Amino acid sequence: MTSSTPAEQLCLGMRRLQSLGLNRGSSGNMSTRSDGGLLITPSGVKPEALDDRSIVAMNMDGVVQNSRLQPSSEWRFHRDIYATRSDALAIVHVHSPYATALACQRLDLPPFHYMIAVAGGYDIRCAPYATFGSQALSDAALTALEQRYACLLANHGMIALGASPTAAIDLAVEVEELARQYILSREIGEPMLLNHDEMDAVIEKFKNYGSHYGRQ
Ligand code: 13P
Ligand code: ZN
Repeated sequence: MTSSTPAEQLCLGMRRLQSLGLNRGSSGNMSTRSDGGLLITPSGVKPEALDDRSIVAMNMDGVVQNSRLQPSSEWRFHRDIYATRSDALAIVHVHSPYATALACQRLDLPPFHYMIAVAGGYDIRCAPYATFGSQALSDAALTALEQRYACLLANHGMIALGASPTAAIDLAVEVEELARQYILSREIGEPMLLNHDEMDAVIEKFKNYGSHYGRQ
């Protein structure tokens, strides 16, 4: 995806999320940071109908710069993440089946597997429920994302951040897989959790691992 424009990367990214089974229909959205604002997918457009002219440019005040289409209804949390997280250059939001199943139970993903650290810490939090597209949802997501690159959204889905669209998609894939493994493990009992020392060791090792996430 490196030789394509940022707008093309968003269109390709949305199609990739669909082919990976992380999104269906027009659910979910993506954005990238741009000069003075963000580029974001339009609201309610299926991935196969997207082209680079459908991508909406917005400034950091939430004012649309270029478009005949409405920006994603979730532009607030995209804008607010870029405003507060200098490490976020791309954002993916999906209603992927396993992460969403967990989010409907309003459950955090605990350190049941060492790969939880891929999201930056001991757990992957589930933000409290708020209406889609609302400022309350953005506020809840920002809190759940503190010191993390991903979170669940209660009764809704997940958000993953990255240093590029590819990195954000890769993280969404990992979180979805972790949610699937956690649900499977709970079917046969209560998973044993790693302790803080065990997770600290993984977090330390991850500083030199998975450089494609592009984190400093
Ligand atoms: P948009 O089509 O407006 O981006 O909405 C999809 C979605 O997932 C809302 O949470
Ligand atoms: Zn959504």
